[in-house]
Amino acid sequence: MKGFEYIEEELNQMKAEGTFRPLIPIESDQGAKVTIEGKELIQLSSNNYLGLTTHPRLKLAAVRAADEYGAGTGSVRTIAGTFSMHNDFEEKLAEFKHTEATLVLQSGFTANQAVLASLLTKEDVVISDELNHASIIDGIRLTKAARKIYKHVDLKSLEEALQSTQDYRKRLVVTDGVFSMDGNIAPLPEIVELCEKYDALIMVDDAHASGVLGRNGRGTVDHFDLNGRVHIQVGTLSKAVGVLGGYIASTQAVRDYLIHKGRPFLFSTSHPPAVTAACSEAVDVLLEEPELIEQLWENTRYFKAGLTKLGFDTGHSDTPITPVIVGDEAKAHQLSDKLKEYGVFAQGIAFPTVAKGLARVRTIVTAQHNQTILDEALTAFEKAGKELNII
Ligand SMILES: *Cc1c(COP(=O)(O)O)cnc(C)c1O
Repeated sequence: MKGFEYIEEELNQMKAEGTFRPLIPIESDQGAKVTIEGKELIQLSSNNYLGLTTHPRLKLAAVRAADEYGAGTGSVRTIAGTFSMHNDFEEKLAEFKHTEATLVLQSGFTANQAVLASLLTKEDVVISDELNHASIIDGIRLTKAARKIYKHVDLKSLEEALQSTQDYRKRLVVTDGVFSMDGNIAPLPEIVELCEKYDALIMVDDAHASGVLGRNGRGTVDHFDLNGRVHIQVGTLSKAVGVLGGYIASTQAVRDYLIHKGRPFLFSTSHPPAVTAACSEAVDVLLEEPELIEQLWENTRYFKAGLTKLGFDTGHSDTPITPVIVGDEAKAHQLSDKLKEYGVFAQGIAFPTVAKGLARVRTIVTAQHNQTILDEALTAFEKAGKELNII
């Protein structure tokens, strides 16, 4: 079909530069090892921190819910798509998060869009860390509020933004709890103090901290003992929780407001019963099997130490996300390709996901890996890194 020559041209350029990345289908379930092109590879690219995507309790909950309540809900929540299990799960989640209420959306992405687009007006301003996730950036694009970007985790830059915005009705400071490409944790205690000093609202996007940080995986707010001092927590049910969805944990008023004004809530169909039931079971697993989180952190320490010992630049991560920073875009992809040859699936990540010159292979270990598997992965990293003159 004619008409898309301008796109084809750009794609061809990407191919020439080595930055065109076809999708890589996984032929197995999402485990510590996955099957790709018929070959078993160690999976270091998933967000399946606790291995819950394949946890027997979640699978069983999903199957039972599909059997009893069907494959889909047939409506948006506000018309006829709220099942009692949706409300029950939100109550359970609110109790888990120590907040008044929660509201679940289709994904973490849409949760950010719902909050940012609806809670602020043109009398307000949103103040955002420059490395916040794309869904926050897109949410900000949808609001009529003014915007200020502060330097990454830079408290001085944040304070300047707070000082220069005192005439707005409301100020909302937004930060990732854990930054997804570097694995560093936001300095939340200091950010909260600044917000309290300047009477600003604070919102934390805990996608990579949900199920990973805090008691039983309650997130960064709990990790730093800041319960009751953060106005809005956004979390995901798609990463460590192992299923799909996003949620907002906040006050009852925020929940009620979003039910009336959050466009992804109003205009997109609710989660299928299997999704909600599996998410609900996941919260029970977080409470009843804390050893999964312990295993995740043990594996994290082991793997990070191994990479560092080999001489790789792993940045300043505080979490199971460990970047192997290479710099050059094409080289990051070459490293990823070589790793694949040697039995490891770890994706190269380049501009625009990370800044130019900071291309990397990003790794995430999970509770499902063990030392034998991680040793195999480290051997692959050593071989590939030496061949490409990275170490
Ligand atoms: C992954 C991620 C999201 C999106 O979550 P989904 O549930 O996958 O849509 C939002 N915010 C951050 C910081 C993320 O890392």
